[in-house]
Amino acid sequence: MSASVFTNEEDRIRSLKSYCILDSLPEESYDDITFLALENAQVSRALVSFVDENRIWFKSSIGVNLKEIPRDISFCQYTIQQKDIMIVPDTLNDPCFKDSILVKQENIRFYAAMPIVDDQGNSLGTISVLDDKPRYLTSKQIKTLEILSKQVMYLLETRKNKMELEKILNHSITEADKYKSLSELFEEKVKERTDDLLQSNIKIEKLNQDLSESKHKYKNLSESLEIEVKNRTKELEFEKQKLIALLTNAPVAICLFNGPEHIYEFANHDYLETVGNRQLIGKSVREALPEIAGQGFYEMLDKVYSTGEPFIGKEIYSTIDKKNNGQVEDIYWNFIYQPIYNQNNEIIGISDFAFDITDQVIARQMVEKLNKELSVSEAKYRNLSEELELKVRERTQDLLKANKEVEYQRNKLNELFIKAPTLICLLEGPQHIFTFTNPLYEKMFGSNLIGKTIAEALPIFSNQGHFDILDKVYQTGEAFVGKEYPAFFDKAGDGNIVQCYFNFVYQPIFNSENQVEGISAFVFDVTDIILARQQLEKLNANLELSNQELQSFAYVASHDLQEPLRMITSYSQLLSRRYKNKLGEDAVEFIDNILDGGKRMKILIEDILNYSKISKKEMVTSVVDLNAVIESVTFNLQLSIEESNAILNYGNLPKIKVERIHMLQLFQNIIGNAIKYRKKDTQLIIDISVKQLDNSWLFSISDNGIGINPENFHQIFVIFRRLHGRSEYAGTGIGLASCKKIVELYGGSIWVESEEDKGSTFFFTLPL
Ligand code: ADP
Repeated sequence: MSASVFTNEEDRIRSLKSYCILDSLPEESYDDITFLALENAQVSRALVSFVDENRIWFKSSIGVNLKEIPRDISFCQYTIQQKDIMIVPDTLNDPCFKDSILVKQENIRFYAAMPIVDDQGNSLGTISVLDDKPRYLTSKQIKTLEILSKQVMYLLETRKNKMELEKILNHSITEADKYKSLSELFEEKVKERTDDLLQSNIKIEKLNQDLSESKHKYKNLSESLEIEVKNRTKELEFEKQKLIALLTNAPVAICLFNGPEHIYEFANHDYLETVGNRQLIGKSVREALPEIAGQGFYEMLDKVYSTGEPFIGKEIYSTIDKKNNGQVEDIYWNFIYQPIYNQNNEIIGISDFAFDITDQVIARQMVEKLNKELSVSEAKYRNLSEELELKVRERTQDLLKANKEVEYQRNKLNELFIKAPTLICLLEGPQHIFTFTNPLYEKMFGSNLIGKTIAEALPIFSNQGHFDILDKVYQTGEAFVGKEYPAFFDKAGDGNIVQCYFNFVYQPIFNSENQVEGISAFVFDVTDIILARQQLEKLNANLELSNQELQSFAYVASHDLQEPLRMITSYSQLLSRRYKNKLGEDAVEFIDNILDGGKRMKILIEDILNYSKISKKEMVTSVVDLNAVIESVTFNLQLSIEESNAILNYGNLPKIKVERIHMLQLFQNIIGNAIKYRKKDTQLIIDISVKQLDNSWLFSISDNGIGINPENFHQIFVIFRRLHGRSEYAGTGIGLASCKKIVELYGGSIWVESEEDKGSTFFFTLPL
């Protein structure tokens, strides 16, 4: 008897599918169980089958050709509904199966089936034994069938487990694969990162190395830079000190102005000396040197500052309070105003290099004066005697030649001083090694001097004392100023040793420890000027001698001439008195002419005599009241004053220390001329006035006479020069020449201002 089970069909199907047995391939273990069931039951057919939703599928079978049959015709559809074995001993006797199609078609008489039950109680299939004859099963056979059914279940479970294991395994493999590829990826990434890291490390290491190298280099560099900067700063400071020392002691006046107001920033010794050692620094030029206002210097500085164009002044005249005592002095300058620029190329100041060339200008003026005097002498000689004239001419020629020579020398000297006035060199160490020479120095002493000691380079000076002076300056640190120092030297480079003269300043150069380390030398070659001066002195002496000769000649000549003249005049008068009536008309006229000539000759001789007496030698001065002098003049000229009806105006005239006779001659000549050269139809008015200047009196004597053409101004003061013929106006042409000689004797000057037909004014100065 079989017991039925009532399990849920859905659960049963789900359980069956979970084993995946349906439609699986034949398996030996199932076939073995089928064989055991067949043998156990001693039947002809046996099978292991599973009940699907609509069919019965045979997993293993013996003696059956079918693979599966529909569920509704099967015996199993019943068997699975019970827990125990179902036995149909003879199908033909069983009402339930006797009409079954299977019974008929497959000839099934015997049927026994044990359900295959899972642990949930679901009958999944059966293990069946069939036969074509009716049969029974022993309890042993039933028991065996039960065991075989369990074995099938066991196989199913094993299969399921295996499947699960495989699934797990597959899953594991997939996971492992995943893991593997992930880990590979990771490994790869790690490797990449490691490589990157390594690369980075290498780079960092390299950078570190570079850095430390750079640091090292930088350290070295900065150390050497620091040393270099220190050295350079020291050098620059030293150079600056050198420069300042050079500028300070240069025998040229140097100053630096700052800003548009020209504030003094620096002024060297020479400069300070020319302004009486005034306090300049920090003051504007207008404040510091007020006395040069109106002389154009401020304006020149303003112009240089505003335009940036340098100004070169040549022989510029100025009056400066040189001793800072309120007294101005005449100074002539050559100078350069040079703009100073800052780094942005803006003008910030002006440098001034100035040379005092007053001596040169005065020397030249003296030469000019000498020239004038020479021309005067020439005139004197021409008029006094043929022989003397010849002598004078010869002397004049000599003088002109000498003057030319002097002029030439002066020009040469001028060029030397103006264009490059100083020879400069720097000497280093106790052996005086040349370290610097300027072009002028090289021109004088050769160009290959640098690096040589002065004794090697210029052996010619070895016994002339110069090196001893240099040694002394080096040892004592005291500057040496050489004035017109003689030296024997092959100046022309033609092998001829000649005597030269030098002005020089040897200035010690100190190092930062205040020890002497060299000498700067500023050298002026003054040979030419000294030779010129010597020549000038010689010429002056000659001129003085010839003037004296001339004077004594004039004196003697005029004295000696007076006697024969007197004889001529008195015998002519005698002749006239005694024989006037006996002689013809012509003879009387001739005698009158002789007498007239004699009179003029007398006046001429007196004038020459007076002129020749005007000299310093015989001068005896005393304080003279000029009012009294004018009174004497009026007295002397009484006749002509009355005749001309002249009006003479003069104020209170001063008393001055002079020789009275000179003043009498001076005023009488000028007043006399005013009367002589009056206009016939005009009331003659003569005005005498005087004005006090700084160092002198300025006199003026004006008339309203015929006047003088300005072209002739310079001629009228030359002896014997007359602008009119004797028939027009009597005269000797000596009057104004005498006036000039007198005025210049007292250091004054005389000149005239006039226009033709408009009167004349004579000006002259005399000392206070
Ligand atoms: P002179 O004996 O001829 O007067 P001076 O030496 O006194 O000689 O004068 C030189 C010349 O200057 C004169 O010949 C005359 O032509 C001119 N002169 C001098 N004084 C005057 C004057 N006051 N007015 C016009 N001419 C003058």
